[in-house]
Amino acid sequence: MELTRRQEIMAMLRVGEWTLDELAKNFVVSRKTIIDDLEHIALSVARPSRLLIHPPTCDHCGYRFKDRARFGDPSRCPRCKNEHLGPQRFQIV
Ligand SMILES: [Zn+2]
Repeated sequence: MELTRRQEIMAMLRVGEWTLDELAKNFVVSRKTIIDDLEHIALSVARPSRLLIHPPTCDHCGYRFKDRARFGDPSRCPRCKNEHLGPQRFQIV
């Protein structure tokens, strides 16, 4: 049986860390589509596993996001307003 895109994403996240852009490029879909997929995946991952969000650190001031719950990349640093943040990464652990 062919895996659905969400099943494939789950399999990828179990073996590595991926960004929104990498997943969107891999499946040739929009970032919004991947965000929807991740929202479903976060709810369907069976305990004790869970979908982790590894937040970016601001290169400019060193600010580190804590407890990110959103799947879209943060657009700017809340401390110094730097808009060139690295992407956050996702992983299932
Ligand atoms: Zn900053």
